[in-house]
Amino acid sequence: MNPYHVADATNMIKLDAMENPFPLPDSLREPYLTALQSAAINRYPDPGLSDIKPLLKQVLNIPEQHGVLFGNGSDEIIQIIITALAEPGRVIMAPEPSFVMYKMIAQTLGLQFVGVPLNKDYSLDEAAMLQAIDQHQPAAIFLAYPNNPTGNLFDTMVLDKIIRACPGLVVIDEAYQIFSRESYVERIKDYNNLVVMRTVSKAGLAGLRFGFLVGSASWLLELDKVRLPYNINCLTQASILFLLQHYAVLEQQADRIRNSREDVLTRMRLLSGIDVFDSVANFLLFRCNTISADEVFNALFDRRILIKKLHGAHPLLNQCLRVTVGTEVENRTYMSSLEEILS
Ligand SMILES: *Cc1c(COP(=O)(O)O)cnc(C)c1O
Repeated sequence: MNPYHVADATNMIKLDAMENPFPLPDSLREPYLTALQSAAINRYPDPGLSDIKPLLKQVLNIPEQHGVLFGNGSDEIIQIIITALAEPGRVIMAPEPSFVMYKMIAQTLGLQFVGVPLNKDYSLDEAAMLQAIDQHQPAAIFLAYPNNPTGNLFDTMVLDKIIRACPGLVVIDEAYQIFSRESYVERIKDYNNLVVMRTVSKAGLAGLRFGFLVGSASWLLELDKVRLPYNINCLTQASILFLLQHYAVLEQQADRIRNSREDVLTRMRLLSGIDVFDSVANFLLFRCNTISADEVFNALFDRRILIKKLHGAHPLLNQCLRVTVGTEVENRTYMSSLEEILS
């Protein structure tokens, strides 16, 4: 294995990790600091996040009857789920290419990971998924909705068949829900093996490390057994409690990013030498045709713009790069550099 690599972005325009480029507005900084002042750092944090739970359900439209489990980022929730299911010989499944932590964590915990290739257009290969489920009887399937790094939503009819066919747990990972505005939360009640995972990372709070899982009380009770106590520290709790009360600010920033994404997409599609895929998230995946992805990546890097190189990660990502939507100024700098490189 290799440790998860984080590129050094000192003095770079950072468009590699799907972060929201906008800081909190100045008007919220003082009230935010005031909210943090009362955090009791001498005490262990509230293990049940009792203040946050009802507010989170209300602000994020989580049905009242569902349970919520909190994680130190959704990465930790993936780890909690796989730890709870871990038994020698068990299989964790996901389409590929997708979010790499499903595979990394499954392998770290000694489970077998089965990746099922997507179709060429990055839609789910229904027959291959159903065949793989039948053959491997997965303990869990992870489906990023929309998918990272491809940016698309999967077909709900195919998802429905997968959830019904899977003997184990199906985790719908909605890390980009604030951009896609599509959710499976309302459908949790329709199945006995479906949970939905969210995070505030891509919405503008990546530094806080806060994710949550929504599901039936019976599933969450089991998963909670392997969660480390006090996994959400008191400064994160105080921050989340404050920021949920100002969540509209993050939603407005997400709208601005969605608009910028369409602008960048339109401009990128005018360039010859690349094919850009549609996206409902805050990033765009594109394939280089005339010069290699490496050359484009390096030429941007030399201009102090950091994006993500995906070539080599999976055969379906041949010559592919991924760019996160930044501020309007960052996007213009990126676009003019890319135009120059491809001209
Ligand atoms: C970024 C990302 C995550 C991880 O989110 P954290 O809450 O920051 O750990 C999970 N799933 C997908 C699909 C992602 O792109």
